[in-house]
Amino acid sequence: MTQGRQPAATSRPMTGPLEGVPLPDLERVPDYERGFWEGTRQGELRIQQCSDCGLFRHLPTPMCPECSSLDYAWTRVSGRGFVYSYVIVRHPVHPAIREKEQTPYNICMIELEEQEGLRICSNVLQVSPEDISIEMPVQVTFMPAVDNPEVVLPVFLHAPEE
Ligand SMILES: [Zn+2]
Repeated sequence: MTQGRQPAATSRPMTGPLEGVPLPDLERVPDYERGFWEGTRQGELRIQQCSDCGLFRHLPTPMCPECSSLDYAWTRVSGRGFVYSYVIVRHPVHPAIREKEQTPYNICMIELEEQEGLRICSNVLQVSPEDISIEMPVQVTFMPAVDNPEVVLPVFLHAPEE
């Protein structure tokens, strides 16, 4: 029944964040987001943590959704987590993605180890799209955006557990 079928070709991995797509404007990000981008520039993944109940939250918000506190700290987290969910995009909707032939690319929801449900949207690099899987363990690393090196983006690499 499989006669004549070829094994599925393996697509090339992403080697860096997408180019030519919108980036945060660091001059205009609200105060309650700034700590995240200051962290990435230091090579640290900092996540907002409520000073009253300890809940981590991402994306950043001014108020804790659990206890309504306005007090928070930027806590450095390990950067370890796993792929919670993902999509592989093969159709280039954005013109910059088409022009620079950046497909296929992945968008992964990474769940961080510090807290159940604490997730960050990013890319997994150096792994072929066909090899990305749910629960794959990953580790953060940081890359300056090609279009604006002032913006340093958190991206993830496969990190097999020992
Ligand atoms: Zn709280």
